[in-house]
Amino acid sequence: MTSVLTAERQVLVETIRDFARRECGTREERRALTDDGRDMHNVELYKKLAKLGWVGMDIDEKYGGAGAGVVEECLVLEETTRARLPIRFMSVSLISAGIYARYGTEQQKQEVLRSISAGNLVAIAISEPEAGSDVANIGCRAASVKGGFVVNGQKTWTSGAHKSERICLVCRTDPTPQRREGLTMLSVPTDTQGVAISPIDTMGDHEVNDLYFTDCFVSEGNVVGEVGNAWQQLMSGLNKERLIAAAFSLGLAQRAFDDVLDYVKQRRQFGRAIGSFQSIRHRLAELATEIECSRLLLYAVAQAVDANPESLRPRQASMAKFKATEVAKRISLEGMQMMGGYGYTREYDMVEDVIQSLPMTIYAGATEVQLDIIAKTFGLAG
Ligand SMILES: Cc1cc2nc3c(=O)[nH]c(=O)nc-3n(C[C@H](O)[C@H](O)[C@H](O)COP(=O)(O)OP(=O)(O)OC[C@H]3O[C@@H](n4cnc5c(N)ncnc54)[C@H](O)[C@@H]3O)c2cc1C
Repeated sequence: MTSVLTAERQVLVETIRDFARRECGTREERRALTDDGRDMHNVELYKKLAKLGWVGMDIDEKYGGAGAGVVEECLVLEETTRARLPIRFMSVSLISAGIYARYGTEQQKQEVLRSISAGNLVAIAISEPEAGSDVANIGCRAASVKGGFVVNGQKTWTSGAHKSERICLVCRTDPTPQRREGLTMLSVPTDTQGVAISPIDTMGDHEVNDLYFTDCFVSEGNVVGEVGNAWQQLMSGLNKERLIAAAFSLGLAQRAFDDVLDYVKQRRQFGRAIGSFQSIRHRLAELATEIECSRLLLYAVAQAVDANPESLRPRQASMAKFKATEVAKRISLEGMQMMGGYGYTREYDMVEDVIQSLPMTIYAGATEVQLDIIAKTFGLAG
């Protein structure tokens, strides 16, 4: 692919592919690891990845990570997703890791980043029923009491909370009329009294959760960053979050492409492989070009960030996220069409590709939000 693939990174990619072939190269093996597709995050497998140093790629060695960089982190996300490793909540845990790395106290970093690098999960709870794209509308309340805060309220859509050891919770510590002020991040272990986690029924089975906080005490030692500063902290982390979403989606896109390509070479109608029909050939050529555009954009941005972390701008991160997530969605939907009725059956993996790619254009800032961010950079604000 692009020039980012140095010899060392090529070895990393090959090693991940080899690992994936050995651990879950067949549909039967994947079904065994996922309770027949019902549980898309296999804890034991994820811990194996962590032991190999692949989970903490961009986490400092001081905190148990590999201390590599954003390019390596993206390569791991892309390749593990392409290989269908059932480790669904890796990306969300890496998004949380970024927050602790930037704003955590030394003690939090030692505890939480080490734990993430070792293969434990940390969820992030920002969204609420009335605070989706409009993040500043957060109402989950953390009232200041002696020694900490008492949290009451609801969060929704929290990916992987049911498998996480803690949640990075964004809540309102000051009911100021300035909506972007008075927000604070709290690090809340999931077994804290007053935390209830309830699954949301989605196309993707048990993936996201509602969280209910009832008189939940969180000590002041669990504040991440500054009290009242969560808006700024969130905004500064969103760009990295978008690269993570883009890398995951790129893996999804490539995987859907590999699957459909394989299919159209095998499937024969009218006495020939359907891949030889011009309409299918051209569509695949177009989709391959779309993947390459996404890849070039993502790794160009990731490489620039590794060279200078301050260089990451909202425009580039939003472009990378927008492009990769929309491409993944398009390829899986077109892939299903090109596979005819068989694409719609669970006999093939395209159904899973569609299910996983659809929410990526919603999650981590919907496409419309990304387009607004991009348009703002050339002076078109709404
Ligand atoms: C699978 C999945 C996993 C998720 N995981 C997490 C998680 O781990 N943690 C977390 O905090 N959240 C998570 N989310 C929530 C996700 O970030 C929100 O769904 C997203 O921010 C959109 O919010 P909403 O669903 O309330 O939609 P809304 O904000 O109600 O948007 C509905 C539609 O209106 C459009 N829209 C909204 N505002 C505008 C505007 N100003 N201009 C143009 N169009 C607009 C949107 O683009 C969208 O198409 C997850 C969501 C999903 C689906």
